[in-house]
Amino acid sequence: MRSLITGGAGFIGSHLTEHLLGLGQEVVVLDDLSTGSEHNLAAVADHPGLSFHHGSVNDPEAVEAALQGVDAIYHLAAAVGVFTILDKTLHSLRTNLLGVETVLEAARRHQVPVLLASTSEIYGKNTTEGITEDDDRIVGSPLVNRWSYAEAKALDETYAHLYGVEYGVRSVIARLFNTVGPRQSGRYGMVVPRFVEQALAGEPLTVFGSGEQIRCFCHVLDVVPALVALMADESAYGTAYNIGSNEQISIAELAERVIKATGSTSSVVHVPYQEAYGPGFEDMERRVPDCGKAERTVGFRPQRTLDDIINDVTAERRLRRDSASAAV
Ligand code: NAD
Repeated sequence: MRSLITGGAGFIGSHLTEHLLGLGQEVVVLDDLSTGSEHNLAAVADHPGLSFHHGSVNDPEAVEAALQGVDAIYHLAAAVGVFTILDKTLHSLRTNLLGVETVLEAARRHQVPVLLASTSEIYGKNTTEGITEDDDRIVGSPLVNRWSYAEAKALDETYAHLYGVEYGVRSVIARLFNTVGPRQSGRYGMVVPRFVEQALAGEPLTVFGSGEQIRCFCHVLDVVPALVALMADESAYGTAYNIGSNEQISIAELAERVIKATGSTSSVVHVPYQEAYGPGFEDMERRVPDCGKAERTVGFRPQRTLDDIINDVTAERRLRRDSASAAV
């Protein structure tokens, strides 16, 4: 079995790469290294089953070259993170729309199945607790830049659906809720690594908005096997699955939890959304999934708690800080 992982040098993609290699599969990574890094693949860099292609999913030739002999495609490459989307909105929109079409066209030619990494963002402002895959989207204005990520990902799902209906391309959609763990960058707006880095540096933890927003964080090591199980189960094809945790926490509580876990003396400061993200920014108050469908189909049930996540991210960041100071 040989799998192509687009975005395989990213946070989730690198864990998926290691997992598939561990299962004895060959893995081809296609990544433009825009937010990912070859360092993320350092542990498997010399693995004989891994090949790395530096290129874009928007480039049909790069996708075609990476797809030779491949049996399955995990399409994870995307412009990700609120800061990325707000800084480079048009570029991000293009990446997230064009990439999927290029990949689906290639999947059609080679007749290989695709797992599409979608997002809880597609539910928009629907704050239903225990949101299910059939719940309606409540979308913000198309003129508010923040929603362009959700719009693109929702259209990606529609593309996958229509390529299935009209061309018989097999695909499964994983709607990922907040996924966290070692190697996730805090640079693009991801809250857990950002809080941990601030706590270890003794800097104030910056809570954007009121801090009352409710989120659920799932460990990447729980998410990755679910992606592989969905790809392996043909009964899952043609539909979407929520993948996430339902352990709820407010962002203000998360800041306190990180301070406690790291033993930091940092304080917490609140930064208005407008200051953090610019005028007109909108966010959702609650994002809590019902993952019963994934549990019934592939037995998905997260094993790791939020404390496990914070401890793992802290251990990794401490190691990085230690090796950075040893190198000076
Ligand atoms: P990431 O930024 O670490 O990974 C994205 C990878 O895609 C990076 O390695 C980046 O270099 C690569 N990439 C970007 N544009 C590319 C292009 N044009 N061609 C080739 N490679 C390109 O982010 P992640 O958190 O690992 O996200 C992976 C996927 O999961 C994304 O599709 C994202 O939308 C989805 N997702 C993630 C989360 C989360 O909480 N982390 C939640 C919902 C959905």
